[in-house]
Amino acid sequence: MPDSEENLSEKVNSMINEFNDRNTEFTEILLKLIDNVKQQIKPGFFKIKGLNWESYEEWGSLLPFLLKALDFQVFTNKFINSCRASYENYLKSLENGEIEDISSKFGIIVSYDREVDLFRVPVFEFTRYCSRISGFDYRLASQSFDRGEVVIKKNGMAKILREYFVIKIREETNGIDADEARNILSPFKEQLDEIMAELEELSKTADLGAVDSSCFPPCVIHFLNDIRGGVNLPHLARFTVVSFLNNIGVSEQGIIESFGTVPDFSKKVTEYQVKHIIGRISGTEYTPPKCVTLRSNHLCYWDDDQLCHEEFMKHPLSYYKIKKKKKIKG
Ligand code: SF4
Repeated sequence: MPDSEENLSEKVNSMINEFNDRNTEFTEILLKLIDNVKQQIKPGFFKIKGLNWESYEEWGSLLPFLLKALDFQVFTNKFINSCRASYENYLKSLENGEIEDISSKFGIIVSYDREVDLFRVPVFEFTRYCSRISGFDYRLASQSFDRGEVVIKKNGMAKILREYFVIKIREETNGIDADEARNILSPFKEQLDEIMAELEELSKTADLGAVDSSCFPPCVIHFLNDIRGGVNLPHLARFTVVSFLNNIGVSEQGIIESFGTVPDFSKKVTEYQVKHIIGRISGTEYTPPKCVTLRSNHLCYWDDDQLCHEEFMKHPLSYYKIKKKKKIKG
């Protein structure tokens, strides 16, 4: 679970020391990891494939350095989010005893009860992670209890470990200073520069770069204006704004702040909804509805916008991508 600032800085320092001590050994692992990350950098790369979770212990502590050295926030977010699903699938493929071992390495107090083929998790441990897992099945009220412990199946345990992993990687990455990471990884400067150049290049076509609000489609502009004007948006419009902003790379905080002026604004509720839609809770990163859906819900505001009236215009994200591409080309 999230470390205190003191613990985190201790952890980061020990990661740095470990890196320095095992430099030669880490070189080979890092080169493989760099190569793997590089292979993900192509349009549609957000489905992480090929990360060898079997050898996670070898490269797990290096990943935060690599992500921080690249310091490309949108890429980091997408990469970690994609790892979430990939890691969960890997965990589900393991034997129950192996899951118990991983939990114990992560410091999560869990025991596998062979007799009933279920995992026993202390309530406090379960509640740390369950709010990040979508679905009524994972609320505390829906659980079975035995002797003060929550008893869950393997799939539930895989989701808990998945959330632990995501929190850990995010925290460790955020806890490292970018200059320090680049300094530590200076022997790999050439490879890192190559990755950064590819990310820059991709950002021109795949929306990894700076958000350009002048390319937003009329519907999203309308919703954002309504939000700023204090209008209470219908659910589908809220969903469209959040998923749209997330898909073009606006940070979680940036999205939450954009709702700060709506009349029934509740930070807690908004945070939950936003986290759910962007995949921090559910593991599923949603995309906005198609134009046809928005139109049938009276939420399309195309008026006389030429691009919206093109035959091929089917989706608000396509609108943004096409307009951004046109703008870059001049
Ligand atoms: S056509 Fe599509 S992108 Fe344009 S305003 Fe309507 S829903 Fe939005």
